[in-house]
Amino acid sequence: MTAPAAARTLTVLGSCGAWPEPGRACAGFLLEYGDFKVVLDLGYAALPELLKLCPEGDVDAVIVTHQHPDHGVDVSALARVRYYLAPDAPPIPLYCSPGVLDVLRALEPRPDPDTVFDVRDLASAMEVGPFRLETALLPHYVTNLGIRLSAPDLTIAYTGDSGPGPELGGLAADADLFISDATLQGASPTTTPRYVMTATEAARGAAGAKRLLLTHFWPGSDRAVSVAEARAVFDGEVLAAEEGLTIKL
Ligand SMILES: [Zn+2]
Repeated sequence: MTAPAAARTLTVLGSCGAWPEPGRACAGFLLEYGDFKVVLDLGYAALPELLKLCPEGDVDAVIVTHQHPDHGVDVSALARVRYYLAPDAPPIPLYCSPGVLDVLRALEPRPDPDTVFDVRDLASAMEVGPFRLETALLPHYVTNLGIRLSAPDLTIAYTGDSGPGPELGGLAADADLFISDATLQGASPTTTPRYVMTATEAARGAAGAKRLLLTHFWPGSDRAVSVAEARAVFDGEVLAAEEGLTIKL
């Protein structure tokens, strides 16, 4: 009997920008690589999606790209899960952009998030489990760090929230999967500065990546339109994030 292939998957926990539509959640992804499980963002309502897969919130690391609640508020809920269901477990490494910890502490000062999590500065982190971590400061209303996680045979990159910009090129280059903000549809807004992207801009920013996963859709938008707009520009496969969607890597 052969051993089952080690997990190499990305599961979408939430796909909405701003606020979650009924039955959906805001930003969240679970990346599984072998035995290692890392959560990328955990916004409004993403925790219940995570608990379907990890009932005690037992993951190996959590990364939060920026302090907005549609990307990080459910880390507070995860802290409660860990505090009550796994009080003796070691703290989970939590890699934060500036401001994230302040938001978590304002939500719930006791227990301090620093007791449930092993809080680390995302900008200066070099390794997350089996992955080498690189970050890129991307254009957004607050400090938002795009991330690129590389193992010898797999590279995943994620923008968090971002306007268009040349910084995306380095994140996307040769990535097996590029997870990109695609909040808007249609023509690019003419107002500046720009802090989120259209699907077309996401597809341009993803140039060099092998596959593109669009996410952070504005609530109520027709995602098929976003996919069609991105496919008109991007050479590789284009997918739309959907709660519960698991992508083999
Ligand atoms: Zn957002």
